[in-house]
Amino acid sequence: MNPSSPPPKAPQALPQVSIPRFIWMLIRFRIPMPVTERMIFSGAGFYVCPGCGITMEREFVNFCDRCGQRLDWRGYKKAKVVEPGPRINRSITF
Ligand SMILES: [Zn+2]
Repeated sequence: MNPSSPPPKAPQALPQVSIPRFIWMLIRFRIPMPVTERMIFSGAGFYVCPGCGITMEREFVNFCDRCGQRLDWRGYKKAKVVEPGPRINRSITF
């Protein structure tokens, strides 16, 4: 018997995740993303993972070894050369 019972909890708001986004979260790593950027460090070029934006140590791997993003190398010859340095965190837009 506790007269000062805590106020009723506010119902927890559900995260606003739409179904397409949820599906996308599940499948995005399985869909090959084209490698479109190449970063030059001291003369050597490193391709940039389109999933996490980090340069990859190895080329022509099927998956990024950091984030697991599946990679599409068909357009690698046309990859844009980008400068190293702080990058704006590219949030993936849905
Ligand atoms: Zn990655």
